Amino acid sequence: MIVEAQYTTVPVERVVAGVAISDGEHARCGYCGRSIGEGSPIEIYAYSMSDECDVTVARTTCIDCAPDAISHPTLGGTEWLVRGTLALRSDLASQVHRLVFVPDEGVIDVSPPTESSEGEMEQQQGTAVCCRQP
Ligand SMILES: [Zn+2]
Repeated sequence: MIVEAQYTTVPVERVVAGVAISDGEHARCGYCGRSIGEGSPIEIYAYSMSDECDVTVARTTCIDCAPDAISHPTLGGTEWLVRGTLALRSDLASQVHRLVFVPDEGVIDVSPPTESSEGEMEQQQGTAVCCRQP
């Protein structure tokens, strides 16, 4: 699934795929604090402000706590809810294990950076994820 083209030029799944959720074999749900590990279904909340290139993963929740929709959209930023599973990735050389995000279910909700000011904002929409070429 690809995020609607007028908001992003790169599917957000590709941006957040493999992002480190926890340095270790367990992560914690941002709501209930439950320990979640490899293979657990999770949801992440990610955002990108219009003038930034990076997508920030702000919250990780277990699937029981995962909201179905973005309830309080932030003006000027694009926000996503993405569901997937945790995968354990090991670095054999350093013996470091970390949990990474696999967005196998995909985006379930997106909030575009609209409704703040008319006219001026329109030209900026669509560059939320992709860096502009210098
Ligand atoms: Zn939870």
